[in-house]
Parts: sequence; C-alpha cells; structure tokens
Amino acid sequence: MTLYDQHLHSWHSFDSKADPVANVEAAIEKGLSGLTFTEHFDVHPNDWTTCVYQHDNYTQTIRSLRKQFGSNIFIGQGVEVCFQPTRMAVILDFLSRHEFDLVILSVHYFGDKAIHRRENWEGLNATTITRLYLETVLEATRFCEKLHTKGNRVFDVLGHLDLVKRYTHRFAPASNIASHCPLIDQILESCLSADLIPEINTSTLRQGLHEAMPAVDTLARYVEHGGVGVTLGSDAHMSKDIGAGFDAALTAIREAGVPNIVVHRKRQREMVPLPPSATRATL
Ligand SMILES: [Zn+2]
Ligand SMILES: [Zn+2]
Repeated sequence: MTLYDQHLHSWHSFDSKADPVANVEAAIEKGLSGLTFTEHFDVHPNDWTTCVYQHDNYTQTIRSLRKQFGSNIFIGQGVEVCFQPTRMAVILDFLSRHEFDLVILSVHYFGDKAIHRRENWEGLNATTITRLYLETVLEATRFCEKLHTKGNRVFDVLGHLDLVKRYTHRFAPASNIASHCPLIDQILESCLSADLIPEINTSTLRQGLHEAMPAVDTLARYVEHGGVGVTLGSDAHMSKDIGAGFDAALTAIREAGVPNIVVHRKRQREMVPLPPSATRATL
C-alpha cells in the first residue's frame, strides 16, 4: 500500500542533525509514497534559547527538495507545534501567517513542566506524572474543540498522545497507561469533537518499548468511539529512522480495526483504506 511518513525532523529542528536530502533518499529507499517534514515550533520561554525555528530557510529547503525529488515522492512541509496554554495567541498568530501541508499539535509538558527533564520528576511518582501528562493532553484537545466550534481547523493531528510512557519507561518503568483509561477515553472523544486525527508514532519502538504511541488497546478504544483514521509517523530525528516501525504499526492498526490511514496535503485529508490483512507492508 501507499505509505507516508508524516512526522519527522531534519536539521531545521533544534534537536536533529539529519540532512533533509538524506531523509528523502531514505524514504525513497524504503518505498514510501511520501514524507512530511514536521519541524519543531516551540514557544515556551525556556525553549526559545534552544529552539530556533527559521521558516524561510525551512521553506527554501522544501522547495529545493521538491525540485530534486518531487517527481519520485511527495514531500510535505509540516510543523510540530508544542502545546503551551499560556502562549496560544503567539502560536495561532504564527499559524495564520504560514502555509503548511500538516500541523501537528504535540504535548511535551505536564502542566508547566517539560516531561523529558528528569529534574521535573523529583517528588512525583510515575502514576501522578502519567495522570498530569494526560490531563495536559486533554487540555490541548479541549482547546482544539473550542477552535473547531469557530469553524476552522487550526491543528490537524494530535502527536504521540501517550508520550509520557517514553519517559516512565526511562525514569520509572513500573507505570502503565492502561490504568488511565477514563482519561484516554476523554482524550479520544475530544479528538473526534475537535476534528483532530491521532497519530501512531513509532519512535518508542526504537527506544526499548514494545509498542508505538498509542498502542493497540488505545487504538481499539478510538475505533469504539467512532474514529476512522490515524496518521503514521516515525518521529525520525535521523535519516535511517524514516519509516521505521511501520510494519508493527500497521499490525496494530489492523488489530484495532482502524479502517484508514489519513494523509495530509495542503491541509486537505485523504483517507487511504487499509488493504486486507493478507497484504503486508514492504518495509
Ligand atoms: Zn514531539
Ligand atoms: Zn517530533
């Protein structure tokens, strides 16, 4: 089937050194039909010093990639926006002035604390942090619901909805997401109300976990709530990881009964139906 990697980074993100050309070559080599760059846009005051986002340079790169490879593969220009409840005016203003193929809203904080910083975990147990993280995700999707009632879709995709497990795995392995089902259900319902597509982010499969974000049980709950599609993203920060873990993700998608993979181009959505389970991905 035609597969698109719709979450990946290059040296236009502060935390990646990947050459964009090498990213496209890797995607072609893996037989993908497309890849969408989703560089970080972080506006938290603590992130500004490290997160440098230069839209013009990024756009120039995409133009030149399309010139060089555009006849072989779809190359999307997306952005991964970090949810910051106190800075949404800045974010909305930025998005209103720039064009993308895809806008991902991702939560990298629990409350006002960055989840990847070990020092922020001091004095809190993994269950509490998991709850706080999921509550922040719910706050993000509720925000999108409010935007949606005004009739416009500002964000297309909810990134890695249970990202917290990447860090509980590192810092406090005893925790599990399953004990937070009611909160997960609220997030999934809210995604549907907000017209926000959840992604399956396969980066955890490269980081010692046996499941993507989210795992099959959450995907199955999403289908129960009426969800009909997800996006697929490696969250690669290195070219070699483009398209990584997609076989496992497709297995989970099928097992959960999600009927479509959603592809975004110029903010428009295409539902790509999953072929019968006999067909395997070629990755
Ligand atoms: Zn992210
Ligand atoms: Zn990312």
